[in-house]
Amino acid sequence: MEEKIKQMQAIYEDFEKAAASYKAEAACAKGCAFCCTDAGSIHITTLEGRVIQNCIQRLPRSRQVAVKKALAADMKRRERNQPSACPLLMKNRACMIYDHRPFACRRIYSLKTCSPSQHPVLSKQVMGLGDEAIKALQQLDDNGYSGHLSYILHMLNTPAFLETYLVGDYQPEAIMQFGKSHGIVINRMAIEMNG
Ligand code: SF4
Repeated sequence: MEEKIKQMQAIYEDFEKAAASYKAEAACAKGCAFCCTDAGSIHITTLEGRVIQNCIQRLPRSRQVAVKKALAADMKRRERNQPSACPLLMKNRACMIYDHRPFACRRIYSLKTCSPSQHPVLSKQVMGLGDEAIKALQQLDDNGYSGHLSYILHMLNTPAFLETYLVGDYQPEAIMQFGKSHGIVINRMAIEMNG
């Protein structure tokens, strides 16, 4: 797992290097958390979810309780197709896990200032680089899954699922019902489809 996490970080770094010249044109400014409040689903892999789960487990007890409540509320709102800000966004509009944020948050930036009527605008080149990085992340996490952050964390917080995942086993039938109703992607199938 540690080796896979290092490889995941290398994928993040390679993307940052390749996208740096495009991101230099970004309109993003400190204090703007539009991507965390209004930009839709935050898709992560189970490997990224495991890193986030460990971050949450290192938080003070009271904050852990608050985060768990926020994750459960996010899950309920999204299940009802209601808008929901990221449960890891703090009141001061900073990310609680910034250094460990998933790739979905790293790839996004905007060439124009965002607003409810202006969603993030990315260059085609960075979109392409991001799509390639996602393929690499799914390949790396080849006994895992991808989906919205609170759904993946819910799966990882289920002891039987976590045990299977951590030993490197692969039992998609065990999550089939939840997976179908929550748009969970089986990484191994995504890899096969991407050729
Ligand atoms: S994980 Fe952090 S950066 Fe990503 S959407 Fe949530 S608060 Fe924003």
